[in-house]
Order: sequence, then structure tokens, then C-alpha cells
Amino acid sequence: MESSVRNTVIMGTGCAGLTAAIYAARANLKPLVLEGHEPGGQLSLTTLVENFPGFPDGIQGPELIHNMRKQAERFGAEFKTGHVVSVDLKERPFTLNLGKESIKTMSLIIASGASARWLGLENEQALIGHGVSSCATCDGFFFSGKEIAVIGGGDSAMEEALFLTRFASKVTLVHRRDQFRASKIMLDRARSHPKIEFLTDTIVQDVLDVTKKEVTGLRLRNVKTGEQWDMPVSAMFLGIGHIPNAAMFKDLLDTDEEGYIKTRDYVFTGVPGVYAAGDVQDRRYRQAITASGTGCMAAMEVEKFLEEHGR
Ligand code: NAP
Repeated sequence: MESSVRNTVIMGTGCAGLTAAIYAARANLKPLVLEGHEPGGQLSLTTLVENFPGFPDGIQGPELIHNMRKQAERFGAEFKTGHVVSVDLKERPFTLNLGKESIKTMSLIIASGASARWLGLENEQALIGHGVSSCATCDGFFFSGKEIAVIGGGDSAMEEALFLTRFASKVTLVHRRDQFRASKIMLDRARSHPKIEFLTDTIVQDVLDVTKKEVTGLRLRNVKTGEQWDMPVSAMFLGIGHIPNAAMFKDLLDTDEEGYIKTRDYVFTGVPGVYAAGDVQDRRYRQAITASGTGCMAAMEVEKFLEEHGR
């Protein structure tokens, strides 16, 4: 057990957590930032980020994260690698159990993010950032004039497919069933787009070609007929949903049916002193800048909370 009680602990080192760390550290709160199993969050999985304000030529995702971290460290944020196993929010100070040790803190910012759902194919994982992406807004631009595949049958997949028509010469939407979860309006929009073609009852069996370190095509199989073939494409975008990293808060905080933490006034959870920022509470925008925005808000609320509780 760490002997002292922390002012604040920030769970997560994506843009929400790191922005919270910059603000909390600059307010002299000496935050402890816990880095889990996906250091840097989703930005560390992407390549060039061109829509984060302040970088006219874009900036590499990992570099942006590295800079944010350096900025937080400059003001005294402390980082620690550790996976939070369980949390006790019943009384203050709160207790975070990291397995071999526990940490007590007067406030908590949950910025543990959401992880893109992947198909789980070996070559898919190897080609992330080389034609495999879970973020059309981030990476679509790199495939101007190319043929692209989007996987999924929900609103995210429709939205990605529609967005990608701005760049791609053709978008093939590959869905494992012939029924869609997507809303009618999004489905109709995608169906009527001249650049989008639908392939239903079809699954991706493999992503080609790992030896060339780029996506050259997908090995597909029709689940009804068993037919198998290779479809040449330059990129595969996953639109098969996200999983919020909030399982441990399921019985402690209000979460929606998919496990996202419900917040009011942007970052407040139902427990005073506990705030949630970034993708763990945002299923709508999921942008680096919006995550940073709520990270900033959470840190400012922590500062106010600690003042009100006699820091
Ligand atoms: P979703 O609605 O859960 O759809 C996920 C899709 O991915 C489903 O079609 C599912 O297929 C497929 N899928 C899941 N795992 C798969 C796998 N392993 N292999 C192949 N396919 C797989 O997720 P979402 O599209 O991200 O939407 C989440 C929520 O956000 C929804 O409430 C949605 O309305 C909302 N949203 C709204 C908008 C908008 O209004 N503009 C945009 C994005 C998201 P099955 O159908 O066969 O299960």
C-alpha cells in the first residue's frame, strides 16, 4: 500500500488521461497517472493525425502522445504502469487495487478509453497502420483513389463507408449476415451511394499481404455457399464496434447497456470526486480533440472538488 493519500489518480494515458494530467499537474496536484495495457490509447495505433489543431502538417499519433506525456511530466505528473484490478469507491479516500499493491486517492479520473473491436486475425494485427485501420476519419485520406473494404453492418460501418467515399475509388462493405444493425437512414444512404458495393453473408478469413507489409487484398468466404476468393483492396477499415474499458466499474457507476460510463455535465459520474473523460464515456465523437477536451474538464473539476473538500 502506498503510504500517502493521493490528490488524484488518472487512469489512462490516451489523450483524455494525458490532458487531464497536464491540467492537474499544472494546478500542482501532483497527479499519479496509471498506464494500462494499451499505453497511449488509440492514437498510438494510428499514423498521421491531421485534424488535431495546431499541427498544420499533421503529426504522427505516437509523437502527439509522447509530447503530451512530456508536457505532463514537465509539470510534475508521475506515471506508473499498472492494471487496476478492482476499485473501492464507497468511501473517500478511494482505494484502487493493482494486484500487488493498492493506492488511496481523494479523487479519480477514469480515462481508460475504449478499444476498437478487431476481427482477431493474426495478419490483421500485423498490418495495423499499414492498411488496416479502425478509424476512417484518421486514416481514410491515405487511400485516395484506392479501393477499400469496410467491415461491419452497424451505423459505424455505414458512416465509415460513406466517409471513405470522399477518398476511395470504390468502397466494398463486407458484412457477415444479410441483416443489418444500422439505422434505416444510414443503410439507405450507403446502399444508394454509387461508390459503395455491398457484400453480405461474407466473412474475412485473412488479410493479405503481410510479406509486403501492406494490405493488398482480403481473403473472403461466403458463409452460405462456402465460396472463397481474394478481393484486391488497399485498405481494410473495421467498423465492428468498440468496447469501453470500464468493466470494473459496472456495479459501481452508472453505465449504459454497452458498458460506457454515463456522465452528466460532460464528466461527472454519480460518485462525487470521480470523473470520467474520453472514449470510456463518449460513444459519439471519439476524437482525440474531444477526448482531450473532457480530460481538461475532469481535471478542472478535480481541482474544484479538492478545494471544496479542504485540500
Ligand atoms: P453495432 O451497432 O454493435 O454494430 C457492429 C456491427 O459489427 C454489427 O453489424 C456486427 O455484426 C458486426 N460485428 C461485430 N463483431 C464482428 C466480428 N467479429 N466479425 C464481423 N462482424 C462483426 O456497433 P456500431 O456500428 O459501432 O454502433 C454502436 C452504437 O453507436 C449504435 O447504437 C449505433 O447506432 C451508434 N452509432 C451511431 C452513429 C450515427 O448515428 N451516425 C454512428 C456510429 C455509431 P452482427 O450484426 O452480425 O452482430
